[in-house]
Amino acid sequence: MARPSPLEIYTLLDKSNCKDCGRDTCMAFATDILERKVKVQDCTHLMQEPKQAKNREKLITLVTPPQRPVTIGVGERTCVIGGEEILMRHQLTFYNETAIFIEIADDDPDLEETAKYLTDLKVERIGDVLQVNGIALRCVSGEMEQFKLAAKKLSEASSLPIMLTCLNPEILLSAAEEIKTKKPLLYALTKENWEQIGKFAVENSLPVVAVSSNLDELMSLSATLQKLGVKELVLDAGTFFGPGKLAVTYDNIMQLRTAAIDKENKNAGWPVMGVPAAYWSQTKIGDDKELWLAQYQELIMGAIMESIDTNLIVLHTGQKKEEIWALLALMTLRQSVFSDPRVYPAVDPGLYEIGEPNDMSPVFVTSNYRLTKIPVEIDIKGANLNAYLLVVDSEGIGIESAVAGGQFNAGAIAEAVKEFKVFDKVKHRILIIPGMAARLSGALEDEADAFVVVGPRDSSGIGKYVKEQWKPEEFMKQYEDMKE
Ligand code: SF4
Repeated sequence: MARPSPLEIYTLLDKSNCKDCGRDTCMAFATDILERKVKVQDCTHLMQEPKQAKNREKLITLVTPPQRPVTIGVGERTCVIGGEEILMRHQLTFYNETAIFIEIADDDPDLEETAKYLTDLKVERIGDVLQVNGIALRCVSGEMEQFKLAAKKLSEASSLPIMLTCLNPEILLSAAEEIKTKKPLLYALTKENWEQIGKFAVENSLPVVAVSSNLDELMSLSATLQKLGVKELVLDAGTFFGPGKLAVTYDNIMQLRTAAIDKENKNAGWPVMGVPAAYWSQTKIGDDKELWLAQYQELIMGAIMESIDTNLIVLHTGQKKEEIWALLALMTLRQSVFSDPRVYPAVDPGLYEIGEPNDMSPVFVTSNYRLTKIPVEIDIKGANLNAYLLVVDSEGIGIESAVAGGQFNAGAIAEAVKEFKVFDKVKHRILIIPGMAARLSGALEDEADAFVVVGPRDSSGIGKYVKEQWKPEEFMKQYEDMKE
């Protein structure tokens, strides 16, 4: 889809520059719409003035991405999936990362405890908080009352969005009725039950998943549901394991995404989901070794799906605390796949205080590459040190490359020492540079009038280094001797 230009958007705005939307001009608002920092609905003029109705509709059509977004859940943990306008991340950026939903069986005696664990699960990694996005409640009991009760308990125990998973429409809708104010995602709508589930979804403004392994049938279901009035739809063409089946699963997802984004096919223009957890129903699990292999198979499928921007995946592995390794792997991969390629991975240069440093605390020097500065900071904190971290402008490049390329050099470090008044904060004149920048030490001593010591090559060694080698008095004596 050709991206509209800010000017095309601007021509449909009121052009009064009234500032009601918090922007100084309508043109700034137009630019922010493109960046999804504001919505059409934020322009009071477009929304409130009847004579603007036509422009409003035109603008909504103009800025709606070819793959429409779908919202699941309510409140702070609301999850938005889809809404993408490109096939490959490097073409622009992906806006919504793959949502990870973990399944829990409705007869699981630990349902509430597991739900609480998943809700609170947070992993901080290089400045981002990684979390799961929802819970898929699976009807294993086959009992209406059991499924309803489990849905109720789950919605009370967790603020995470819920996906209700049941192949029996009566049971599915009875649980959906119970928690419909939480905006659950309904799974699964098929060619057999589309009318019953579709009508319920329309009446209650709920998102639904249309399921068929036949793509023509899936498109036909999508067309029928849109005609019925369904406003939020997710497509599932099935997740298949075994020889040759992985390729089918992959192709189906890519075909749906291509049809939506490149061909602007309205029936395909919805988020696509996959169920790596399906492995468990497609194989027999035996001893512990097989269990581990099964988890591994599931994880590989999840990783493949994330890497091709599948909008939502459902996992079985990960619901127990001891299975955190599986979530760490997928959440870390997801963080990389969905980072914005337009955002330069740099942090602001400056003198950062870690803990409560005093005038004899060590001063570590590093580059302003985000993936260098944040791990160094975490390692200093992890070692329970009170220290200063001098972050030098290396044009956002990591230490090793910046030393080789000349962006991290003695002059730049000395400049930063002066600019951020490092030696006003401490009584000593010692700088600890990374091991990978050892060759700068001589020049830096001259440029910054400092005593330079070479720290570990890897910041994970900082704790040990300080314990064994940080001797400020001795270093200062050497500095004084050097000056004489
Ligand atoms: S509220 Fe609408 S009319 Fe006013 S400045 Fe923003 S975009 Fe322009």
